[in-house]
Order: sequence, then structure tokens, then C-alpha cells
Amino acid sequence: MNIPYRPRQYLTIGGFWAPENPKVLGSRITVCRPQPGPCPLGCKECYFNDGRYYEEVDVAHIPHPEWVRQEEKIVRMNDGNDSAVNKHLVTGVATLYDDVFFNTSGPDINFPGPVVLTELARDNALWLMDKRAVQRLMFVRVLVCAWEMPHVDRVIRHYTDNGIPVVLTFMRYHQIASIPMHYQLQYTRKKHVSNEYWDISRKAWDVCVARAKHASHDPDLVQTCGTPDSSACYQCGNCVRYYEDWREKYPVRVAENMKGSGYEV
Ligand code: SF4
Repeated sequence: MNIPYRPRQYLTIGGFWAPENPKVLGSRITVCRPQPGPCPLGCKECYFNDGRYYEEVDVAHIPHPEWVRQEEKIVRMNDGNDSAVNKHLVTGVATLYDDVFFNTSGPDINFPGPVVLTELARDNALWLMDKRAVQRLMFVRVLVCAWEMPHVDRVIRHYTDNGIPVVLTFMRYHQIASIPMHYQLQYTRKKHVSNEYWDISRKAWDVCVARAKHASHDPDLVQTCGTPDSSACYQCGNCVRYYEDWREKYPVRVAENMKGSGYEV
């Protein structure tokens, strides 16, 4: 099937043309959001629920599998949302794709494919380290803010000691009041993808990254989501690289893992 290619837009399973998420534009990553509507988790300062997502959230967004295959894309499931919300729907739709990974902030990481686990900057999460967890995790995304570095150190040690890469994702804030008074000088107003936020300064970024790498026995296992200059996935490449590393170790596809589960679509 030949699907005409339109730059910045692609055909979705519902038959309408949808814009690509500007963050992943130009990279091998594309996004899929089977679950329409706001995310029920309702985290504070959530850009998705607060109307700063790049498209309306009340319609599902499922890229056409033919287009995905043609473009050799890797699909990030339930973008802007958590793959554990409406998990049966999310895993069912994931069977449409050969190359796909899931995102969750845990604790359920029992997905039929690679998982990016987001560790929030609080002390609730060092609970995942059995053999199956190691196998499922593509990497751990550690949310970083300048005032939580002791916790970040512990999380980094915990995962990298088990050979799991961590990707530092610096938190950005819509409201300055979300940043403790003593740390506000380390943040600066800056555009990120399509919105302006209070973002960590370059100097504070460097200090945090140096500290985070020092916390691990293997500094190469500690990477950052983008750089102070660019949040574009095509300039970073971590998700693609870690997806391919995972796939090399565990070649079974989601659809095979899901066979007979009753959730295939
Ligand atoms: S780690 Fe890199 S590739 Fe992955 S979401 Fe962040 S910027 Fe994009």
C-alpha cells in the first residue's frame, strides 16, 4: 500500500492526517496515543493536561502501521500519557507495530515489549530490581530538578549498578512558584519545543550532569534527554540507540508476545 507522504503530517488509523509531535520530528521515533482525553494521573504542572500539548488530546492518535513500516519508525506508546493507563487498549494497539516501546512511571512494568520507566523525583521507587525488571527496562528516565540531587544520585546508583542506562530529563516549570526560592536563580526562561518554561540554566545543567555521572560506577550509562541547546530527538538519538540495544538482546516482537492474549487488534 502506497501512502503519500506529507511532511510534518501522516495518516492515522482513523483515516485523518495528524501532525507529528514536533519533539520527535526528523528522528526515527514516532508517537502513538490510543487513549483519548486527559491523563487521569493528573501530575502537577503536566503540559499534556494543561493544554500545552501540540495537538488536541480528546481524539486518539494512532499512526497508520503501513506508514510506520515504510518510514522504519519506532513507536512510542501513549505519548504524553502513561502506557499503564488503559493498558489493555495500549498493548492491543501496540501489536500493530514491529518496533514499539512503552512508557510508564510504574510500578507495573509488565508490558509485552521494552519499557522506559520514568522515575519521579521522590523517594518511592527503588522497588523494581528483580531479573524480569532488568529484562524489561530499555532505560530509566530520571526526572531531575536541582534541589533533588541526593535522591537522583541514589536512583542512578540503583539502576546503573544493575547495568540499566539512565537518561536524565531536566524538569521544566510553567510557574516559578514551583521552584523553591533558593533554587530560582538556577532557572531561566526558555522555549522548549513549542512552549516557554522555567528551564535549568546551562551552568546548573553542567553541575547536575557532572554530579550524576560521578554517582555511577559507569558514567557512560548516564546520559541526558537532549542538551542545553536542543531538545530535538533527531539530535539526541538516545531512544533509538537504547531501543536497538534492547532489541538485539530480546528479539521477540510485541505481537508474538501477545498472541492468544485476546487483546490483539
Ligand atoms: S532521550 Fe533523546 S531521543 Fe529520547 S525523548 Fe529525549 S531527546 Fe528524544
